[in-house]
Amino acid sequence: MDDIYSVLPADQITENEPMSAHCSFRTGGAADLFIRVNSADELKAAQKCLKDEGKPMFLLGRGTNILVGDGGFRGAVVTMTADHAGSISAAGDDRQGWIDELCAIKADGNRIFAGAGATLAAIAASARDAALTGLEFASGIPGSVGGGLVMNAGAYGGEMKQVVVSAKLLMSDGSTKTLSGDEMKFGYRMSVLKDNGAAALSAVFELEPDDPETITDRMRTLAAKRREKQPLEYPSAGSTFRRPEGHFAGKLIEEAGLRGFAIGSAGVSDKHCGFVINRGSATSAEIRAVIEAVQKRVYENSGIRLEREVIFLGEF
Ligand SMILES: Cc1cc2nc3c(=O)[nH]c(=O)nc-3n(C[C@H](O)[C@H](O)[C@H](O)COP(=O)(O)OP(=O)(O)OC[C@H]3O[C@@H](n4cnc5c(N)ncnc54)[C@H](O)[C@@H]3O)c2cc1C
Repeated sequence: MDDIYSVLPADQITENEPMSAHCSFRTGGAADLFIRVNSADELKAAQKCLKDEGKPMFLLGRGTNILVGDGGFRGAVVTMTADHAGSISAAGDDRQGWIDELCAIKADGNRIFAGAGATLAAIAASARDAALTGLEFASGIPGSVGGGLVMNAGAYGGEMKQVVVSAKLLMSDGSTKTLSGDEMKFGYRMSVLKDNGAAALSAVFELEPDDPETITDRMRTLAAKRREKQPLEYPSAGSTFRRPEGHFAGKLIEEAGLRGFAIGSAGVSDKHCGFVINRGSATSAEIRAVIEAVQKRVYENSGIRLEREVIFLGEF
């Protein structure tokens, strides 16, 4: 049986890596192993090796929808995104640090081809540079293409579902498969990737020609809306809860009297009650406690169960 150091260069593997450096909440304990892969072949080799060794593997995008427990993760966190420590931003053109094939972006005709490790901000910027409209909604979502495919990321009326024509996946048995947009079964903050255990390798986006300046204006307008409504100055994972049908999570939370509710350094944002934020030195346990208290109090107040959008990982 090959161990991970015999299938990947040692400088792509870190032991006891603090996950707080890789998650937008800026909290979380260490993963036993943190592995960067640069290509589909490296991902496949890592996946096989970890499976053979019986080590749990978690695929991390930009860590913008994850809460890792303070006890960390007993297994390997594998990422295909470029080194982004400290560079998570909710808006703007984030092109720094592209390292490889899985982070590459290419425009061809009305299509954008992107590796799953590329950021959503970067594909939106590439589309604009290629005079293509349709990805403006993605410019302010701080995740990766891979995470965006899993979650069917969306904002301001746009979502991945509208623009993805196909996605290439690495299945858990090591085979690759290309699925059409329909086969991706995109729904509200979900896709086929939520359950099938596959890794997204890349995606193709079909867009429409438009004037780059008009596209830039739309992106600026959306960024301004975000800055106005969302507590972007604090670490968070965006909207903490899914939108319950016929309601808004933020409104239900406010009606339950929870605006500004806090446990330790974690709390409900004053600016947008749908965001649980880290006010500076929160632990993951405090963030989780706020999330669970909000769910309980909203249920008591309204009879509506708020479901988490944020994914919990590891030991709390
Ligand atoms: C300030 C802020 C604003 C936000 N605004 C929005 C918004 O407007 N709309 C919205 O939809 N979301 C928003 N989010 C949430 C988040 O950015 C999205 O859910 C995003 O799609 C997550 O991408 P990620 O790369 O960070 O994924 P991660 O958080 O790293 O992972 C999310 C899930 O995807 C899986 N995953 C990651 N990469 C792959 C891959 N290549 N193959 C298979 N599985 C993979 C992970 O295993 C995990 O299950 C916001 C977050 C923040 C912090």
